[in-house]
Amino acid sequence: MKDASPQTIYLKDYKPFGYVVDDVHLTFKLAPNSTRVVSKITFSPNPDATDRQFRLHGEQLKLISSKINGSDVSPVMLDDGLLVDAPNETFVWEAEVEIAPEANTALEGLYMSNGMYCTQCEAEGFRKITYYPDRPDVMSVFTVRIESDLPVLLSNGNPVAQGEGWAEWHDPWPKPAYLFALVAGDLVNHPDRFVTQSGKDVELNIWVRPGDENKCAFGMEALKASMRWDEEVYGREYDLDIFNIVAVDDFNMGAMENKGLNIFNSSCVLASPETSTDANFERIEAIIAHEYFHNWTGNRITCRDWFQLCLKEGLTVYRDSQFTSDMRSAPVKRISDVIELRGRQFPEDQGPLSHPVRPESFQEINNFYTATVYEKGAEVIGMLKLLVGDDAYAKALDMYFDRHDGQACTIEDWLQVFEDATGRDLSQFKRWYSQSGTPRLAVSEKFEDGTYTLTFKQHTPPTPGQDVKEPQVLPIAVGLLAQDGTEVTPTTVLEMTEAEQSFEFSGLDAKPIPSILRGFSAPVVLERTTSREENLFLLEHDTDPFNRWEASRTLAREGLIAMITDGVGSDTLWLNALKTAVADSTLDPAYRALLLSLPTQSELAQTLFEQGVTPDPMAIWTATDTLREDMAKSWADILPALVEETKVTEAFKPDAEQSGKRALAASVLAMQTRLDGGAVAKAQFETADNMTLQLSALTCLIQADAAEDALKAFYDQWKDDRLVMDKWFGLQVGAAKPADAANCAKALTEHPDFDWKNPNRFRAVFGGLAMNHAGFHNADGSGYELLADWLIKLDAKNPQTTARMCTAFQTWKRYDADRQAKMRACLTRISETPGLSRDTTEMVSRLLG
Ligand code: ZN
Repeated sequence: MKDASPQTIYLKDYKPFGYVVDDVHLTFKLAPNSTRVVSKITFSPNPDATDRQFRLHGEQLKLISSKINGSDVSPVMLDDGLLVDAPNETFVWEAEVEIAPEANTALEGLYMSNGMYCTQCEAEGFRKITYYPDRPDVMSVFTVRIESDLPVLLSNGNPVAQGEGWAEWHDPWPKPAYLFALVAGDLVNHPDRFVTQSGKDVELNIWVRPGDENKCAFGMEALKASMRWDEEVYGREYDLDIFNIVAVDDFNMGAMENKGLNIFNSSCVLASPETSTDANFERIEAIIAHEYFHNWTGNRITCRDWFQLCLKEGLTVYRDSQFTSDMRSAPVKRISDVIELRGRQFPEDQGPLSHPVRPESFQEINNFYTATVYEKGAEVIGMLKLLVGDDAYAKALDMYFDRHDGQACTIEDWLQVFEDATGRDLSQFKRWYSQSGTPRLAVSEKFEDGTYTLTFKQHTPPTPGQDVKEPQVLPIAVGLLAQDGTEVTPTTVLEMTEAEQSFEFSGLDAKPIPSILRGFSAPVVLERTTSREENLFLLEHDTDPFNRWEASRTLAREGLIAMITDGVGSDTLWLNALKTAVADSTLDPAYRALLLSLPTQSELAQTLFEQGVTPDPMAIWTATDTLREDMAKSWADILPALVEETKVTEAFKPDAEQSGKRALAASVLAMQTRLDGGAVAKAQFETADNMTLQLSALTCLIQADAAEDALKAFYDQWKDDRLVMDKWFGLQVGAAKPADAANCAKALTEHPDFDWKNPNRFRAVFGGLAMNHAGFHNADGSGYELLADWLIKLDAKNPQTTARMCTAFQTWKRYDADRQAKMRACLTRISETPGLSRDTTEMVSRLLG
């Protein structure tokens, strides 16, 4: 039975559990529909707790037997667990339960994917495996025995012993249950070794289904690079004899950092040049690093409760972004991260789903694995580092690892090490964790007697549950340029703490041109009406690569907004300035590809909305299309040289250099296609020997309405590769013309290969639809209706993925009354579905709220 009215859990209600767990012994007798889990757990009274109630979590379990100190007990059975009288001294709890992994379509707990058993326990999946205090502050040592005829049997920690049909594992590091994992299957491995800085030899494996073993080499190199980097940069060494990664086709998220046994969505680990794009490679490298880095930030030091999720996620995202910056190009990584932040986190923070980096209440914690917790959580750490400096950051981190190793911690613990390391008072800084919403920062300037004054005003609009906002600490990185383009004041970090504050720069000969918020030093919306001339100047001269890019992006956005609202033509001055930059072969091709990227249509809709103009998705689409057309025409003369320059003659490598060239080449091909109707793209499609080139050509052909043959050829070539077929599904919907997108998605749901219970396939089609801005928001509402139909259908099988995909509706209040009514009707229809999951119920009620 589902809860009729879901319960809300509050941070302020936190209480420790009445017992500590001394050790856990689990035996799994695996069978698809009747797996037996036998547990033997030693509990002792927790001296830090007053409440000695012995209540264990448990869901969808069939209790076969339960004992305390060897004698049968009869627990009181609850909706979400059980309650039993327990002694006020150390005792042994034993239970046997039965579960049905094959029937588990929610992909949480123990489930099956293509004949293999696997688990996903974060956040609260362990309670679907056995009765347990399933909360992150209860940590214990686990010993696990697996009985099955399958050849590969894995769990956390180190292998202890194995024989015909069984294996035993022991994890010496105390861990919360959410880090438990088990895998059993007919798998093959890609093995390797790593010697840690202190000389410990570690066995590494990537386990995959037979046939995928040629797609593991890149992930393995990324793993070894991550292990080395964490030693060199954070002084963190690996702590077990073995590290296993397993690829699973059916997975709700990207990957999971289970101790010593990371489980990955196969799309986030398997890679080969023929089947993966450069973007796939870069993402895989980052996710492998992310999960590996969790071994310290997450596993050795974990979270006291789920409200503290950003403690491990914000920090680990920050660490993986540092890793990528070191492995590749730092400016390119920073710009890409800001594009992501504005594309995913800003809309969340500015709409009905807005919540603090550390939320204070939730109904379903799985709904809070968000861009705010992860990406804004990482931005907060970047700001902290900027404010205290690199040395103090390193000192604070050392202190954090020393002081809290083996503990379940809070944001208070985290900030305390920074206070202790620096002597700073971080109480105001802490508002970044408690205040939701995106601060807006207005700027004015004055020049008098050689003194240049910048005055900033910060303001955060109200968000759900927070009407009044206090000023936050903003690190504002500023540089000043002279009229001839030389830098008169190098980057300085201004520390703004007041609602309104001025900063002076004296001894200047002439009024400088400011470059404000360099490197995007704080996640805010800068409200500065910089003149077109000034942005053109910054595009040409700024020494900060981020702000140079930002100047062009701003010009692009303002130009597009003028095209939409005033019906003017493309901004030719900007187009010419950009053309010069893009043709400049001294600039990194990857950076030039980013210079060329236009603001997304959703971003333009948000800007219009903020300016009090109701966005018309079709007008936004048309303006973007017109601008791209003008760009292609007016840049025709530089394209041949760019084609030459971006040719890769060496063997394929997914590194920064080659992928940068291919990224720029893809933009060039898109322009060529507008000029030649697809001739060059067709040739590239036919001769491509890697997925990056094949897919960029296919994208161009779809946009040129010339893809019929290519789509068929692509299908025939790749129909047996699930991950490539996800691209085939997603691309068609994502690149469809606005009027066709919903029909295209609908037709694809009728395709025999549309396996809607596989989250990757579902997301390919419906993520593609949601990201096709004008297509999803087509005036007839067909996009909304189709998505609502499928969300209702999926919710009965997989609440987590359904709830996550409801975010497609999060911007509904931006649009006109008719569209709003249509979206509201869809959300209402979803909310009224009988038996709707707790996950989706919470999301829809917040969206409507
Ligand atoms: Zn993570």
